Formats: sequence, structure tokens, C-alpha cells
Amino acid sequence: MASRILDHMKTIRVPIMLQQRVMKTLREKLALAEQKLEQTFPEPVINYKQRGTTAGSAYLKDWEIRVNPTLLIENPDNFVDEVIPHELAHLLVYRVFGRKGVAPHGNEWKWMMQNVLGVVPKRTHNFAVTSVKSRTFRYLCGCDTLHELTIRRHNKVERGENQYLCRKCGEILRREIASAAES
Ligand SMILES: [Zn+2]
Ligand SMILES: [Zn+2]
Repeated sequence: MASRILDHMKTIRVPIMLQQRVMKTLREKLALAEQKLEQTFPEPVINYKQRGTTAGSAYLKDWEIRVNPTLLIENPDNFVDEVIPHELAHLLVYRVFGRKGVAPHGNEWKWMMQNVLGVVPKRTHNFAVTSVKSRTFRYLCGCDTLHELTIRRHNKVERGENQYLCRKCGEILRREIASAAES
């Protein structure tokens, strides 16, 4: 089996103005939640590492929201209004109710969206995804780097033809299982 060092994925730069709009909405909704729930919350970390056709995901324990830069740039208005509150609601539900017996888009999440954040609770977005259709697969290593493998590379791993190493920590990448992410 061949081992290859994984090339860095090209990063998509989100214009500063758009990043500021994301932060503005995040902070407004967070302030609303603090006021209505009479509780303070730390500000979630936003990054622009979400790939594939997923608009965004919430990493509950890391208190982090991953935003798909391509879908944000292509649908700025709807994205900021829908996806940011959607993912923030996942974090808030986790903090307020925990995870046990709580479905990702269940009653707690719907309540958080509607009654606290004042947003219509929609499970999915309907952005055009043709530009992001090529599927990627998440892999982990020994450090904190997120690796997204193309389907071609993923298939090579699955068939045992190839394995990939992290450039930073040198560990063999392994498929991410049981992700805590919710889209
Ligand atoms: Zn690594
Ligand atoms: Zn969701």
C-alpha cells in the first residue's frame, strides 16, 4: 500500500464584509437568547471550513459553527438569515438541555428557533448546490487538522490501494465516525 502526504485543500476566502454580516447576525441572535433565557453564553467560534453540500454544522462540545464558504458567497442573504440561527440553535439546545433524549431537530430545537431566536424552524436549506456537488469524506489524524478527501481518494483508501498521511502530525488518516456534527 502506498502512503502519501495529503495536499492541502485549497481554501476559499470569504470577503470581510460577508464575515462581518455573519458575526453581526450571530451576536444579535446570541443577545436575544441571553435576554430571553436569562443566561449568558460564550460567543461561538465561526470558521469557514465546511465542505460538500452541507451549508453548515454545529460542533457542540467545541462550541463551534462551521460555515460552507461557497454556499455563503452564493446565497449571502438567505444564508445569513437561515443557516446562522439554525446552527446557533443547535449549540444553545445543547447548552440548555444537554444531549440525552434530545433529537437534533426535535421540539427543543424548534422551540429555540421559533420562540427564542424568532426564526422559522426549517430543517434543511434549499440553496443550489451544483457548484459544491463533488462529495468529500472526512478523515481524522493525530492533530486537530480536518481532512476532506475527494471521492477518488476515499475509494483508494476503501480498496486498500492507498493511505494518506497528515502533513502536520504524520499520522495515517482514518475515516471520521460518529461525528458530533449536525447540519
Ligand atoms: Zn495531523
Ligand atoms: Zn440542523
